[in-house]
Amino acid sequence: MNLIHPPVKFECTKCGACCRQDSLLVTVTGRDIARIAIGLGLGPDEMIRALDFYLTQNVEPLKGLRDIPAIKTERGLAYIALKKLDNGDCVFLKDNLCMIHVIRPTVCRSFPFVFNDTGYEKTWGLSAMKEICPGLGSGPIIEISSLLQIADDVLGDLDIYKKFCEEWNSRERKPTAKRIIEQILSDPRFTV
Ligand code: SF4
Ligand code: SF4
Repeated sequence: MNLIHPPVKFECTKCGACCRQDSLLVTVTGRDIARIAIGLGLGPDEMIRALDFYLTQNVEPLKGLRDIPAIKTERGLAYIALKKLDNGDCVFLKDNLCMIHVIRPTVCRSFPFVFNDTGYEKTWGLSAMKEICPGLGSGPIIEISSLLQIADDVLGDLDIYKKFCEEWNSRERKPTAKRIIEQILSDPRFTV
């Protein structure tokens, strides 16, 4: 597979702007949820307190939602994302630093890049929120090997999570948020 790659300069300045955007959901996949829960030693109830379930009918096509699947909950189809405080800050942001940096969601590790797999090739582009990121255009030209690594992580995670959501949405009759998280935490596809 090819990764189409016009050169772009990027170096994260650690400004935290992408962690403080009300309109930018920090969506999570099953692997993200499992990695955070295991990394912090959280059970399903505690993990749910770090998440929000955004019903699809209440969410304008918010930036960042293009490829993330919605999952069936007791209130309807929803996107799962990290909780945001009233001021728009991510729940894991403290003193402008990420408290879960090494286990942060894939979407945090890939911002401001977005990836797609057309079936023939992997492509990348820039987030619709790219204008908030001062790291773009500064630093060295980003290596294609770095983008390939991120693309593999992002698209691999997404693929497994999409399959999980399809299975869940077609079979689950009691789709509570707690059961979703329990199921994710017991699914070996997410805990490897
Ligand atoms: S907005 Fe850009 S430069 Fe700032 S923390 Fe996020 S990725 Fe880094
Ligand atoms: S998990 Fe960390 S990197 Fe991601 S939005 Fe929250 S504070 Fe920022």
